[in-house]
Amino acid sequence: MSIEQTLFARCDNKCELCASESHLNIFDVPPANEPRADKSIMICDTCFGQLTDSDTCDTNHWRCLNDSMWSQVPAVQVIAWRQLKHLTEKGEDWTNDLVEMMYMEPDVQEWAAALEEEVDDSEPTLDSNGVRLAAGDSVVLIKDLDVKGANFTAKRGTPVRNIGLTSNPEHIEGRVNGQRIVILSCYVKK
Ligand SMILES: [Zn+2]
Repeated sequence: MSIEQTLFARCDNKCELCASESHLNIFDVPPANEPRADKSIMICDTCFGQLTDSDTCDTNHWRCLNDSMWSQVPAVQVIAWRQLKHLTEKGEDWTNDLVEMMYMEPDVQEWAAALEEEVDDSEPTLDSNGVRLAAGDSVVLIKDLDVKGANFTAKRGTPVRNIGLTSNPEHIEGRVNGQRIVILSCYVKK
């Protein structure tokens, strides 16, 4: 069977991410050196467009990952995991629980981590010591911060767990006093 036939048989003519039955495309999950069925997924135009152009991200569309994250196909797991992480970085709350619930075999986890590094060509977000921060890191505030609009002061020493990165390398997002706020990365340390 060709790769395409293998994939069509595997996906049952449905998008492997959102189960749509519209036009399907083969998406090679990086790092893809050569086309292989187990390194590719079959996805619809909507999923394909959003995965390849992150500016068109429609958060609600990705609710489909609630189901597809449980796929038995490692390549689907890897993409579901990465997309959930991206949505978390964009400030979504619901995705974080899913990322934590997700189960991947160790080798699949490695693949997902490698993928994350590969696509990460943005400017690094650094803490006050110049240490690179990643989404999901825990940091501590190094000074008292007045939180604008929320009427409280986040005290020096306050831990902020599971931070999110933003498109601005000087800003991170994190939860303090139950509120998600933007913090200058120069005021935290890992
Ligand atoms: Zn789809």
